Amino acid sequence: MKTAIAIAAHPDDIEMMMAGTLLLLKKAGYEIHYINLACGNVGSVAYDSETTKKIRLEEAKKAAQILGAHFHPPICNDLEIFYDLDMVRKVAAVIRDVRPTVVLTHSPVDYMEDHTNTCRLAVTGAFARGMPNFQTGPAREAGDYDCTVYHALPHTLRDPLRRLIVPGAFVNTTAVQQIKMEALKAHQSQQNWLDVSQKMNSYLQVMEDTSLEVGKVSKQFVHAEGWRRHLHVGFCAADADPLQELGADYIINESYETELNRTV
Ligand SMILES: [Zn+2]
Repeated sequence: MKTAIAIAAHPDDIEMMMAGTLLLLKKAGYEIHYINLACGNVGSVAYDSETTKKIRLEEAKKAAQILGAHFHPPICNDLEIFYDLDMVRKVAAVIRDVRPTVVLTHSPVDYMEDHTNTCRLAVTGAFARGMPNFQTGPAREAGDYDCTVYHALPHTLRDPLRRLIVPGAFVNTTAVQQIKMEALKAHQSQQNWLDVSQKMNSYLQVMEDTSLEVGKVSKQFVHAEGWRRHLHVGFCAADADPLQELGADYIINESYETELNRTV
């Protein structure tokens, strides 16, 4: 069976930017997998680290269940996602377990380092899938298969220098917006925390507004998620683009492609 995995930094990041596409991949016949590398322990002013970690583990499990995704437990604390050997070994082990042909992960540049480092870890983990001399933690057998990596849009759709990021392709998530919202609601503890810490008016509204905004940019869909496909070298065939299996719910952003093909 074909498998896809979403690899994000924190509990709720998948629901914010990736869950719609994951749900459509499931409809298209993929087995879907879900992992946040960090446990969410910093995400509270009301509870201590251990308590918060426990609460958020249960919330994330519930969210994955709502999405119908296989849940993989987090491997570190918030703000401790570093690009180091131990983390690469752990992420690579998850990838070897799942054998995904589609990896959905964060933008290579995003508003905070946990996201950026998660992206780097996911990319190297996927790159090392077929290299038996690279040791994963725990040890897992290498596999020979193609894997296509897609990057989600950054939080607020902007890079850390405030520049707008334009996606290379759009996925129509309108039909699954309701389930995506139900999964986000499972992260009950975060609705209050983000109001306090990051002045978000409404946690749920942010996801709704973002998908509507991306839909508007697509000029086709009401709700959408945007993706940029990672360079194929070391991963898959040059023209591999498995999100095309989503049919009419997937469109290429022609202006992005034109920009890519521009000669200097
Ligand atoms: Zn996050």
